[in-house]
Amino acid sequence: MNQENKRVALITGSTGGIGTALCRKLGELGYRVVGNFRNDEKAAVLQQELDKEGLHIELAKGDVGDFDSVGAMVQTVEQNIGPIDILINNAGITRDTSFVKMSKADWDEVLNTNLNSVFNCTRHVIQGMVERRFGRIINISSINAQKGQYGQTNYSTAKAGMHGFTKSLALEVAKYGITVNTISPGYIETEMVMAVPENIRERIIAQIPVGRLGGPTEIADAVAFLISDQSGFITGSNLAINGGQHMS
Ligand code: NDP
Repeated sequence: MNQENKRVALITGSTGGIGTALCRKLGELGYRVVGNFRNDEKAAVLQQELDKEGLHIELAKGDVGDFDSVGAMVQTVEQNIGPIDILINNAGITRDTSFVKMSKADWDEVLNTNLNSVFNCTRHVIQGMVERRFGRIINISSINAQKGQYGQTNYSTAKAGMHGFTKSLALEVAKYGITVNTISPGYIETEMVMAVPENIRERIIAQIPVGRLGGPTEIADAVAFLISDQSGFITGSNLAINGGQHMS
């Protein structure tokens, strides 16, 4: 195994569809993977599944929307496993409703979990990356940040914010060997999308030129490339993975 793959990768929202695929992919590649979670039962199920597959993944509890909770989690990970070289800001939620019906709580929860979390997690790992002159940060955004979506003013705003963050931070830390990129998935077959009523899902699929939902592993494969040494010249960019549904 080469040095690259011994790096420590923290993946937020690891109990979800894309997060679990990321844990698997990076675990298979030999990275020292730490999957963040907030729900003990879901974490136990994930740990069991991955153990059965022979993948040794560490799990770390923390609420990504809470700066101090993330700080404590990062400290524990760095003490027990090692400095975090790779951060994948993947945790996210939706609270869809048209804007005229949107409550302050719907807005705040989505902004806090999807966007403030990016500050919370990145802020706690960036100094170490600067000192070690290496880092990879991937922010999981969404097609709906790029094109907008009915009922998602909160979600589209939060995800669009990631792009400004990505580009500005990429400028600041490029000289330290740290890259910062965004991936914008289209509709991916996870609980988040399967929760959408079937008739609406069918309408969505009809708008996807490749004629199907994406698979979580297709996001994980792209992340694997962007965190590798081969991608050191790619920073401040956005990779759209959406089956051709939105091209910009
Ligand atoms: P899931 O709903 O399957 O997973 C989301 C994960 O985030 C869960 O593990 C969830 O934990 C975790 N999470 C939510 N809030 C917090 C929190 N405060 N602290 C820690 N963890 C938290 O979603 P996906 O896997 O589909 O999505 C992953 C990312 O990809 C999200 O950012 C999403 O917005 C984005 N995305 C997904 C698309 C799709 O089609 N699926 C399309 C475009 C973007 P718990 O299970 O305990 O709630």
